[in-house]
Amino acid sequence: MQADKHQNDLKALQQKISSCRICRDEPISTPLPHEPNPVVRLSSTARICIAGQAPGIRVHESSIPFNDPSGDRLRQWMGIDRDIFYDEGKIAIIPMGFCFPGWDAKGGDLPPRKECKTQWHDQLFTLMPQIELLLVIGQYAQNYHMKAQKKKNLTETVRHAVDIWHKSQKPRLLALPHPSWRNSGWLKRNSWFEEQILPLLRREVKQLTA
Ligand code: SF4
Repeated sequence: MQADKHQNDLKALQQKISSCRICRDEPISTPLPHEPNPVVRLSSTARICIAGQAPGIRVHESSIPFNDPSGDRLRQWMGIDRDIFYDEGKIAIIPMGFCFPGWDAKGGDLPPRKECKTQWHDQLFTLMPQIELLLVIGQYAQNYHMKAQKKKNLTETVRHAVDIWHKSQKPRLLALPHPSWRNSGWLKRNSWFEEQILPLLRREVKQLTA
C-alpha cells in the first residue's frame, strides 16, 4: 500500500515538474532564455540515483538525459550500456537543475537554476526512500547532497569518495567529477580516480542493477 502511494505521488510530482514554468514566469533572477524542458527521471524502484548538474543543449533538444559525450563517459565509468542506464526501474536521474540553463558570455553552460532546488528537490527525495546509492556528480550536487561530508573543494571530495561512501548511510554517497570533456585534463592529472574510485563504482552498479 505504501509502495503504491509512493508510486502515485511520484507520478503526480513528475507531471507537475513536466509542466513547470517557474524560471520563465516567476524566476528568482534573469528569466530562462528559452522554453523550459525539464529532463528528469523519477523512479519508485530504482536503487541508484544519478544526481548531476543540469542538461546541456543536446539533452535539452532530445529530452534524453546524458544523451551526449558526457553520458557516454559516465556509462563507461559505471560499466553499463544504454539499455541499463535508461531503465527507469533501475536508475533514477535527478540533476540539480532540470532545464538547460543557457550559456554564459564565454559559451559555457550556466549553473543549474536555483529555482529547481527550492521548488522540487526536498519533496522529491522524500518520495524515493528506496535509493541505496547516490552518484553525486559535480560541485552543485555535492553542495546539496553531501553538506558535512564535503571537503574543501571538488578534487578533495572526490579523493575521499571511498571513505565518504563507507561512512554514509542509506543512500550511500559516491562523489564523482562531472564526466564532461572539459574535465579531461582533471582526469589526466588525477589518475587515482580511475584506479581507486571506478572499481567501487562498477562493483556497486553491477550489484544494484542485477
Ligand atoms: S529549471 Fe526547474 S524550476 Fe526552472 S522551469 Fe525548469 S523545472 Fe521549473
